[in-house]
Amino acid sequence: MKNKIVELLSALTTSSKEIKDDILVMNFTVVTACIVGSQNQFVLVDTGIENSGDYILKTIHRRFDKNAIPKAIVLTHAHFDHVGSVKKFIDMWNIPVYVHPQELPYVTGQKDYPVGDKSVSNGMVAKLSPSFPHTSINITNNVQPLPQDESIPFMPEWRWIHTPGHTEGHVSLYRERDGVLIVGDALTTTKQESLLSIITKREKISGPPQYLTSDWKAAEDSVKRLKDLNPSIVIPSHGKPMEGDKLKTHLEVLNNHFTEIAKPKHSNIDDRIQKRP
Ligand SMILES: [Zn+2]
Ligand SMILES: [Zn+2]
Repeated sequence: MKNKIVELLSALTTSSKEIKDDILVMNFTVVTACIVGSQNQFVLVDTGIENSGDYILKTIHRRFDKNAIPKAIVLTHAHFDHVGSVKKFIDMWNIPVYVHPQELPYVTGQKDYPVGDKSVSNGMVAKLSPSFPHTSINITNNVQPLPQDESIPFMPEWRWIHTPGHTEGHVSLYRERDGVLIVGDALTTTKQESLLSIITKREKISGPPQYLTSDWKAAEDSVKRLKDLNPSIVIPSHGKPMEGDKLKTHLEVLNNHFTEIAKPKHSNIDDRIQKRP
């Protein structure tokens, strides 16, 4: 991992919090990941950055037992801060990894993401973003497309929702029974571009992390789709979970003012597309 600042920041204040009986959110400061399910059957949703692996492992052992192994890993998308530990776990457990079909090229070594766009904001993380790893990983032997019927293997009550924009094959995970919505990077509850906001975990709903988002029209449509679900709680990859009336208000505002709140004023997206190999 090239980015020492991100690694260091993450190691400082890692923590975890149970959101429901069967949902534990692990917060690596710069990104989150979730353990969903019970001792008999649980799934790891996203895998943090490279140095998150040890903490995830310890947390699984503490929550269940030392022999506990997830049935599968589900990735909301394949950015470096979500796939950081996936190879380690595949080597250790040889379990399936599920992604949206449109995200497959980025986990089979076929296609790289655009480099981070530092022009989107003056925030420090945005400025660092061109140095974030953007090349695709290759886990061809273990990766499988999510089922077309929107079901999620080993997560019987859940369904995946295609929420593109941040990446082509980005998915959110929804459980109708109690309105829990895992949104990945479709929206955030912190200003991910700013280092200060990440450290202080200042709560404010926002769009996807700007420096890595490739299609703003699709991202806006995805936020609307998520708002229309009327979730009771949202678990983002960046920022703290948000729930209840506060969530309702914030989602309405984000949806109605997406351009002002979420979209960067400046973006070199055209340059970035041209720069792609
Ligand atoms: Zn992302
Ligand atoms: Zn992310």
